[in-house]
Amino acid sequence: MDASGRKRIVIVGSGVAGSILAYGLRELGNVEVICLERATAEDHAEAGTGLNVGPNAIKALRLFQPELAALLEAESLPWLTWRISLTNGRELMNLPLSKVADNPGIRIRWSQLYALLRRPVQQHVRFGTEVTAMRYARAGEAGPIVVETIDRRTGRTVIDGVDLLVAGDGRYSRVRETFLGRPQPQFLGVCIFRLLIETARPDLVDDYEQWFNGPNRLLAFRIPGNATYIAGSFPILPDEDVPAEAKRPDVLRALYTPADGAPSAQCAFMIDAICNRVSEIHWARLQEAPAEFCDSNRRILLLGDAAHPMVPTLGQGATQAIEDACIAAAELRAAFADGVDGNITAALEKIEQRRRARVEFVVDFSRDATDTMLAGADPVSGSLAKTQPDFLARLVKLYRDVPAA
Ligand SMILES: Cc1cc2nc3c(=O)[nH]c(=O)nc-3n(C[C@H](O)[C@H](O)[C@H](O)COP(=O)(O)OP(=O)(O)OC[C@H]3O[C@@H](n4cnc5c(N)ncnc54)[C@H](O)[C@@H]3O)c2cc1C
Repeated sequence: MDASGRKRIVIVGSGVAGSILAYGLRELGNVEVICLERATAEDHAEAGTGLNVGPNAIKALRLFQPELAALLEAESLPWLTWRISLTNGRELMNLPLSKVADNPGIRIRWSQLYALLRRPVQQHVRFGTEVTAMRYARAGEAGPIVVETIDRRTGRTVIDGVDLLVAGDGRYSRVRETFLGRPQPQFLGVCIFRLLIETARPDLVDDYEQWFNGPNRLLAFRIPGNATYIAGSFPILPDEDVPAEAKRPDVLRALYTPADGAPSAQCAFMIDAICNRVSEIHWARLQEAPAEFCDSNRRILLLGDAAHPMVPTLGQGATQAIEDACIAAAELRAAFADGVDGNITAALEKIEQRRRARVEFVVDFSRDATDTMLAGADPVSGSLAKTQPDFLARLVKLYRDVPAA
């Protein structure tokens, strides 16, 4: 706790989950909220890519943090439809999201999402501050948790008396590794690459769409600022890195060009964009790891990618980070309401109770929906199956069954 007796909550990472949690806790009088972010306030400003944030995240924000929902909806484009075609132009699915969701999702630039979420909590965030070590307090230290940081301007700092440490530090979470061990990633045998181009052709690419040539998939949508986000994927061996040869323009062109050599106008636009900008592409492999929410002492809370790294197939990474942060803020606010000396242990147990089944459903669904991207997959039968009642019922559960406020 701090010198005036307030409980001290330290959030590592002012990303999606960390910023929203800080926002949700900012007005508690009996809690000091410190958010530590290794990026400076200016980092990410130009960088980034596009995100489609699911209707369920917007629904959760409207319920729990309506001002943030309004802010994001005002600065983004609505995600209204999900269309799947072959790269030769044959349409397989065209789903208005209104059939399975209560409201649209959004399309936004990643750097813009961070900027919008960080601005309202900037007085709580120490930018340019990297958490380098953490521990349960040793004898003689003020506990229960001690955090060491390197600040770009002031150097090494120790923050002690931390009552609750929150891992909002993303997929390669140092907090999770320190207190719960490094999670063992499972690779699905699919490479995914991402590119943002500062060109928009809304006549060709506008709302969220996917195109298949065999299991090789393109995905794209327009985002604000006259830009287009393009992501490609193709199967690789599960236990190997992306082969260098696969990153060559001629190889990429061949992956998405249909057998008759004539891609649709939409796909020709994307294939040219990819092949002309190979050096700007970000490469990754689809992977996931088991979900964990807290340590056995109930002093460490994991949120977002730190808690449940999942495959990005359904665009649920940031979306679930938003759901997590909404619930965590609500439970911690309840624990500290009316000047009560909050029971952190009980709050963490409640958060895990409210999140585990929902998150495991989303992780499993995201993996299952990757079926058409695996080696040997048939995208025609696989995509047509996504128009059938079973898949649509799971989408309804995903997009509508957000936790109640
Ligand atoms: C290229 C790309 C595209 C994606 N597309 C989508 C999509 O379309 N839809 C979707 O829902 N999800 C998408 N995701 C996933 C999504 O971005 C993540 O799931 C989401 O950002 C997770 O939020 P988070 O708050 O857990 O972590 P992050 O948003 O990753 O935030 C972690 C923060 O912690 C900081 N940090 C890390 N370590 C430290 C440290 N030691 N000290 C201090 N600070 C630290 C980082 O700088 C960062 O600001 C995408 C991811 C990538 C990489």
